Amino acid sequence: MRSRAQVVVIGGGIVGCSVAYHLAELGWSDVVVLEQGQLSCGTTWHAAGLVGQLRSTESMTRLIQYSTDLYGRLEKETGFGTGWKQCGSVSVARTPERMVQLRRTAAQARAYGITAEVITAGEAGELWPAMRTDDLVGGVWLPGDGKANPSDLTQALARGAKRRGVEVAERVRVTGTVVKGGRVRGVRTSEGFIECEVLVNCAGQWAKELARQAGVTVPLHSAEHFYVVTEQIAGVRPDLPVLRDPDGYAYFKEEVGGLVVGGFEPDAKPWGMDGIPHPFEFQLLDEDWDQFSIIMENAVQRVPALESAGIRMFYNGPESFTPDNMFLLGEAPEVRGYFVAAGFNSAGIASAGGAGRALAEWIVNGQPTGDLWPADLRRFAPWAGNDTWLRDRVTEALGLHYAMAWPNREPETARPLRRSPVHHLLAAAGACFGSKAGWERVNYFGPAVPYTFDRPEWQETVDSEIDACRSGAALFDQTSFAKFTLKGPEACTALQWLCTADVDVEIGRVVYTGMLNDRGGYETDLTVTRVAEDEYLIVTGSAQATRDFDHISKGIGEHRAVLVDVTSAYAVLGLMGPESRNILQKVSKAELGEFGTSQLIDLGHATVRASRVTYVGELGWELYVPAEFAVTVYETLLATGVTQAGYYAIEAMRLEKGYRAWGRELGPEVTPAEAGLLFTCKKTADFRGMDRIHDSRRTIVSITTDAHLWGGESLLADGEPVGHVTSAAHSPTIGRTVALGFVKDGTLVKAEVNSAGERYSAQISRKAPYDPTSARVKV
Ligand SMILES: Cc1cc2nc3c(=O)[nH]c(=O)nc-3n(C[C@H](O)[C@H](O)[C@H](O)COP(=O)(O)OP(=O)(O)OC[C@H]3O[C@@H](n4cnc5c(N)ncnc54)[C@H](O)[C@@H]3O)c2cc1C
Repeated sequence: MRSRAQVVVIGGGIVGCSVAYHLAELGWSDVVVLEQGQLSCGTTWHAAGLVGQLRSTESMTRLIQYSTDLYGRLEKETGFGTGWKQCGSVSVARTPERMVQLRRTAAQARAYGITAEVITAGEAGELWPAMRTDDLVGGVWLPGDGKANPSDLTQALARGAKRRGVEVAERVRVTGTVVKGGRVRGVRTSEGFIECEVLVNCAGQWAKELARQAGVTVPLHSAEHFYVVTEQIAGVRPDLPVLRDPDGYAYFKEEVGGLVVGGFEPDAKPWGMDGIPHPFEFQLLDEDWDQFSIIMENAVQRVPALESAGIRMFYNGPESFTPDNMFLLGEAPEVRGYFVAAGFNSAGIASAGGAGRALAEWIVNGQPTGDLWPADLRRFAPWAGNDTWLRDRVTEALGLHYAMAWPNREPETARPLRRSPVHHLLAAAGACFGSKAGWERVNYFGPAVPYTFDRPEWQETVDSEIDACRSGAALFDQTSFAKFTLKGPEACTALQWLCTADVDVEIGRVVYTGMLNDRGGYETDLTVTRVAEDEYLIVTGSAQATRDFDHISKGIGEHRAVLVDVTSAYAVLGLMGPESRNILQKVSKAELGEFGTSQLIDLGHATVRASRVTYVGELGWELYVPAEFAVTVYETLLATGVTQAGYYAIEAMRLEKGYRAWGRELGPEVTPAEAGLLFTCKKTADFRGMDRIHDSRRTIVSITTDAHLWGGESLLADGEPVGHVTSAAHSPTIGRTVALGFVKDGTLVKAEVNSAGERYSAQISRKAPYDPTSARVKV
């Protein structure tokens, strides 16, 4: 066994082989893949092999599109059969609501350049004659989808990698990781120590334990996952498309004249609570017909011939699932040089090509080359590595594949987890909570109501919260904000390089700024408050806590400054609206500063940091309250009679005001010019990404329309896609839907928006639909 390699890849499943293949393709061939058993012996060998291209975001859809391209040419390139067949897929709807979802998805797919055709139930039946259609509303046909043989694909990728110099070593088990000075130095294996610069953990369901040894959090948990293979069925032809019947939790794929019938039951069965037994090679779990019955009963309803078909084989294999049903990719924030590609949620065959390329590019370039945020490992933190929490969450995560993709759908399991100190007061006031990064956050104050694509029942409540804020004031609990302090003699210098805006400001100034990557794209946008000559308070979105901390820590480099996460130390209470000053002055004698200032003030019996900034475009303050004073302060503010409000109101108001959100409008591929945020880049000092801030391929615009939108809808001009909506909400202030989105042509003033197949006119502007400052004179 060699004693050194530039890169060690752990795991010879489809993902490990794809990462190695793409590293070699990029010219990195000093790579060794270590597999404890034989290639594909973990989870890959028993996958059903479906490759569906549609994903909820553009970047993830493109990633899988690349997989299909790769799988189509791999056989020719390597001479190794992959079983790839572009047979297309049909998804059917049993309910009108599901049909709305399929229409929305089809419209999105077309906007991403994927052929997707909305079809009738009859047409679905013509494409898939063995299916019953009289109980269907319709369907969608995706001719570019396909199927492959997972083991053969893995072998082909390994062969392609080996041809370019990669070593693949089977029967070598990694037993430990050596980390020194915060960097990976090598791995201990059953065959001795291997020194390396980069380690890539592609160990599938083993990845969590392996990472834990190195202090890295990989939040995944195994769950049992099933399909059966039938004897031959009359009318089942080799060219049959893949069929998905999500309302019946089931999918169908032709295999030697019979069917593979599998699915995603709504209440899954976690596995491996006591760890994964060793060895576990080409191994299956016991049949569980009770657990599978909900899929099988629905499958028989869809394909009546199954009633009498013989079952050749019952496959029960464990697969790893993550808390949000998206895989985990990227460099671990805890250890430099430690990369992860794991937790593929039963889409590892479809994702492996694109995920392998994306990670290889990340390793070679030292940063991602696209927007990988939906899959970024850094959307989680150590709190998400808790086994009991993960076990409870995966019971739900598996079923999300086929659950209705309702707008604003919230997880139901393993909640509540992270609670603000005033959570009990919010609950007592009738809050309906949502969940973000494990935090319970108020969506609005009112009862939970059914999900819908139409006008939701909570709209009136949210409208009244917005009215209260715009006409008087409202109180928001924003404790889930991520908060860091950066302290040290070179804190300012370090931040000046990271931030687009000038942060070398007076003590007590709050600065809104972006932080860019080398391509001029937004790594984050946040507020930076100078609280002392050598100290800043940095406040960012709840979901980006780990990612931003990692980005800033790396950016500090050798500068003498220390970054500390103080999220848990402070509650944040937002008091916003034209009356907020008057309300605050009822409970504080402090002389309150102008916009963009931050000061410590007495508030009732407590002392809090009051920063005059809001995300809703009104006069207002974010109050940073040490956690132990939060209840006292909240009660003091409530006693003024102020209205309480939630995040749905904030979302609508920020859209009325045209404020961008990172992860929706802003992201690693969006520059300040595209975002209309060049005004935050005016400073004389150099900053990262400064050469690229004017790059522009598209423009963020505000959109108003009478259509009811949720985000994700495409924009058309003369029937052709010209952009898409990123966020949308109903605005009671202007009485229409307000949205933000991207358009290719920034001069566009009119378009049509495609909402589930219906077209509505939309007005487009580079200015926000509503500007409270010009509507009212404020002090
Ligand atoms: C029933 C079922 C049906 C599925 N159907 C589909 C489908 O239709 N389409 C789709 O896209 N996906 C499907 N999947 C999911 C797919 O199989 C997985 O997402 C994919 O195989 C994951 O690949 P991987 O390389 O991450 O993991 P694995 O294949 O498990 O590879 C990880 C490897 O790491 C090795 N390893 C672990 N620890 C060590 C160590 N310490 N040292 C050395 N080696 C180690 C293991 O032996 C293993 O071979 C299905 C899964 C199941 C269970």
